[in-house]
Amino acid sequence: MIIIMEPNATKEQIDKVVKKMEEKGFKINLNYGDVMTVIAAIGDKRLMQPESIASFDGVRNVKLIQEPFKMAGRESKQEDTVIEFPNGVKIGGLEKSVIMAGPCSVEEDLDGLLRVAESVKKVGGQFIRGGAFKPRTSPYDFQGMEEKGLEYLAKARETTGLLVVTEVMDSLDVPLVAEYADVLQIGARNMQNFKLLKTVGKYNKPVMLKRGAAATIKEFLLAAEHIMHAGNHQVILCERGIKGIDSSYTRNTLDIAAIPIIKKYSHLPIIADPSHGTGRRYLIEPMSKAALVAGAHGLMIEVQHDPDNAYSDVAQSLNIEQFENMMQELNRLIGRLNYANHC
Ligand code: PEP
Ligand code: MN
Repeated sequence: MIIIMEPNATKEQIDKVVKKMEEKGFKINLNYGDVMTVIAAIGDKRLMQPESIASFDGVRNVKLIQEPFKMAGRESKQEDTVIEFPNGVKIGGLEKSVIMAGPCSVEEDLDGLLRVAESVKKVGGQFIRGGAFKPRTSPYDFQGMEEKGLEYLAKARETTGLLVVTEVMDSLDVPLVAEYADVLQIGARNMQNFKLLKTVGKYNKPVMLKRGAAATIKEFLLAAEHIMHAGNHQVILCERGIKGIDSSYTRNTLDIAAIPIIKKYSHLPIIADPSHGTGRRYLIEPMSKAALVAGAHGLMIEVQHDPDNAYSDVAQSLNIEQFENMMQELNRLIGRLNYANHC
């Protein structure tokens, strides 16, 4: 439920309400607004009737949250969530859109990865991405370098200062991946791996949750809700395309409308992945532009030092030159959108 405090409610009154709700097993999200404090209390309303808490001193009004995504939705938190990293990089709200880029898989060629990372840095990107644990359709395909791949990503961070985004596929691997990653990526195939969601929900580390290829927006936000319910509110959503009706021209259908829809219903940051969203190199630039104009807080793009020989996602991986040329265009757009956001 949403407990709206009087504008002149005292700290003692607010604390008393919070304490009472916590005693009843509710999870609390406190929003100190300029005018009044709003307490979002998530729990079983049978344990604390709204009328009872409404009678506490300093309480103006109590409303039930109607949205199914009680923490991820805007009813419990109206202002945008902005996730800030120790190096000052921010994602969400009106912050400048960020770029996460790198190879689909981390491969044995460390020098290749470092060249990509230097390029991401050069064009103003903030994150190096790369999979060390790879979810592959076939068991005969490259499955990832696991810890060695994580070490390579850490090396790329060391030499460039970029933050590391990398996928974790299994609850058991979370402690290891969290040692190396700045952002834990949950891939599309695991969007509804509830055990994994609950596990990353216990970490104090941002999670990038990719939309399942056949997931509705409601299912997507409820998956984010699982992470938040477990205690981690630093969730970045990623629209990466859904199964369409025509796979002869694209791998997936990038659901651009999902971006403003999610921004309407959720305060969480949302980025777009036009690489997996289209599966075709030539579509990445136009779809990146479309996603930015639609309001994406960032982009995830696959770039490889030698895409034709990459172990995964060859058809959608840009080479370094293509990536840098595209980023010249995208940076102009990002700059213009950032200016418009602050005028
Ligand atoms: C990836 O980002 O490397 C990946 C496997 O993406 P998705 O989970 O969206 O397919
Ligand atoms: Mn990939």
